[in-house]
Amino acid sequence: MRDSVVGPRVLLRRLRELMAEPLGPQERLDHIVRDIARNMVAEVCSLYVLRADSVLELYATEGLNPGSVHLAQLRLGQGLVGTIAASARPLNLSNAQEHPAFAYLPETGEEIYHSFLGVPVLRAGRTLGVLVVQNRTMRTYREDEVEALETTAMVIAEMIAAGDLARLSRPGIELDLSRPVSFTGLAFNDGVGLGHVVLHEPRIVVTNLFNEDSEAETRRLEAALGSLRLSIDDMLSRREVAFEGEHRDVLEAYRMFANDRGWVRRLEEAISNGLTAEAAVEKVQSDMRARMVHMTDPYMRERMSDFDDLANRLLRQLMGRSPDDIAAALPKDSIIVARSMGAAELLDYPREKLRGLILEDGAITSHVVIVARAMGIPVVGQLKGAVSMSENGDPVIVDGEEGAVHLRPQFDVESAYAEKVRFRARKQELYRELRKKPSVSRDGVSVDLMMNAGLAVDLPQLADAGAAGIGLFRTELQFMVASTFPRAEAQERLYSDVLDIARGKPVTFRTIDIGGDKVLPYFKGAAQEENPALGWRAIRLTLDRPGLLRTQVRALLRAAGGRELRVMLPMVTELGEVAQAREIIDREVRHLSRFGHHLPTSLRIGAMLEVPSLLFQLDELMQTVDFVSVGSNDLFQFVMATDRGNSQLADRFDALSVPFLRILRQIAEAGRRNETPVTLCGELAGKPISAMALIGLGYRSISMSPAAIGPVKAMLTELPVEALTDFMNENLAGMSARLPMRALLQTFADDRGIPL
Ligand code: PEP
Ligand code: MG
Repeated sequence: MRDSVVGPRVLLRRLRELMAEPLGPQERLDHIVRDIARNMVAEVCSLYVLRADSVLELYATEGLNPGSVHLAQLRLGQGLVGTIAASARPLNLSNAQEHPAFAYLPETGEEIYHSFLGVPVLRAGRTLGVLVVQNRTMRTYREDEVEALETTAMVIAEMIAAGDLARLSRPGIELDLSRPVSFTGLAFNDGVGLGHVVLHEPRIVVTNLFNEDSEAETRRLEAALGSLRLSIDDMLSRREVAFEGEHRDVLEAYRMFANDRGWVRRLEEAISNGLTAEAAVEKVQSDMRARMVHMTDPYMRERMSDFDDLANRLLRQLMGRSPDDIAAALPKDSIIVARSMGAAELLDYPREKLRGLILEDGAITSHVVIVARAMGIPVVGQLKGAVSMSENGDPVIVDGEEGAVHLRPQFDVESAYAEKVRFRARKQELYRELRKKPSVSRDGVSVDLMMNAGLAVDLPQLADAGAAGIGLFRTELQFMVASTFPRAEAQERLYSDVLDIARGKPVTFRTIDIGGDKVLPYFKGAAQEENPALGWRAIRLTLDRPGLLRTQVRALLRAAGGRELRVMLPMVTELGEVAQAREIIDREVRHLSRFGHHLPTSLRIGAMLEVPSLLFQLDELMQTVDFVSVGSNDLFQFVMATDRGNSQLADRFDALSVPFLRILRQIAEAGRRNETPVTLCGELAGKPISAMALIGLGYRSISMSPAAIGPVKAMLTELPVEALTDFMNENLAGMSARLPMRALLQTFADDRGIPL
């Protein structure tokens, strides 16, 4: 067997010419396999493409019986070709027929060939087909030949991804890549979005595959690697608290990888075989990902995702595309698909083009999800494999109601969703009409429907949703989307904008509620906490770091000069904390008045009721503060000993249960007894059925996400409050209270035509 006569560079150049020629797809493939065979001095070169029905179909061959093209088939896992596709690894055999997986396809006439080299056709770690060369003689293909065939396979992957081969498939039999896929994950934010995939992590395209000059390309790679290493070193050497602990470990791992000789060598090899630096990064990453796909060790999976992040950083360095370029090229109905994402990265996308967000990981309390909720974008998370299954521009539907994603949906799915979207739009129209109507029950009881907010992007919704005010302004969100502590001026500006937009409607600012699941990467908090939800968080933290609280309080007081200011303290556990916070606030008031500042016309200080200890001194609490707001998310997690972020427990216990409803009723009663206003601002307020229950328990002010106000108001206007109150009192009394309250409430509503 002679060595390959011309080498991979020449082959790639030839392939590039072939791509540019005006050929039909079959003709182009036939030329490609012929040229590969010739270049590798092989008697056979065949391409098998993976179909949606998990069958590998022979699409082109040089050397095997031409009559078997589009007829010869192997199932995934069957024969050598099926084994390569299933394992995503090459097979290099000097005598293929001795291999236990060998399956003889009589129609191909391949029995005379002994040596066999097959490589998977990969894209973004996903197998799209198998490329094979065979020789009569028994030989083992050299490492550089394996590499060359893999590089060639990448070109074919791009052709498949670009849809070039779709026209060759028989009607009704689709290629795997264009297969409709439906996933079910977790619904992180309600809403339905129809649009087109935008991959958050960059992916190269076919036009950017072949290099003109390997040396120049290697220099580009080196330069990009150099700046990548510098940026990592720079982050590591900055003595900022931000990069302590876990963050530091990740960066150390990045640094190790960025200097990993094996990785760099594979990148250089791919370039010397004729790829651009971008394509080389993609190829090496894709090979690695495909090989790691079956890995279950969480540590190794973590490392793989570190490597992925690093490769993405390197790609961005190489492509040098600015966020503005990226934004300009976005489709107007973008649905972002990402493995994971920081909150600030989501804010880089123009809101008007976003229709949804799909995450491979994430949790309902992830920062990015909180921000997406504030922006009103449907989000589905925990969808493993979503990134590698998607291509930029694929049609996709995000169903944040059901937690489902439909990628490349079939016509009937798409039209069912279009109907769902129209239905939702009609409902929105109804809610808009309700906006101007007073929020009063059918029997004349008035209930304040307030909204929760936290970022400037939320503010226009105050008018749009017809909210009575902002019942909870989560000031920590400004801190969470920033990369360093927001300066006092930035805080003051935001607070003053909020008050301007509220135009006299009440706004309750909660002092920063960080810690627990809300981490600021730049804040050196406590060492790793075993139970962060029970840890150093919220008011506990701000009382220990009074500088933080003082700055914030000063910003609030200045922003509210000449207007009412309502300040609320999160996670109060004992009343002494309120006294301490009040002292800090009073001191700031004295300070500002000494310097002649314009002070708020009134200052009200409230506490969140989230920790069960306060339930046992409700009257004292009501006497201590100017108002109380029940944080039902945290109160429920502490009362039920159930982590609010744990998806396994998400449906286990019902907040509309007898014990929790009784607790909520006691709080409302204590408020009335002490004439202290009580409101509730957890997620419970935002679902019509639970909002109805709250009203039945005596709540006359509740605060929810802006999108929930319409549905809750639609429920309220049909609600006979007096009858409901009697109904709830009856059902929460005595032993009959064992009945499931949710079902009873549903029946109450159904019997009276109350929309839930
Ligand atoms: C709550 O706990 O109910 C609440 C409103 O606060 P957060 O969800 O921000 O913890
Ligand atoms: Mg809370």
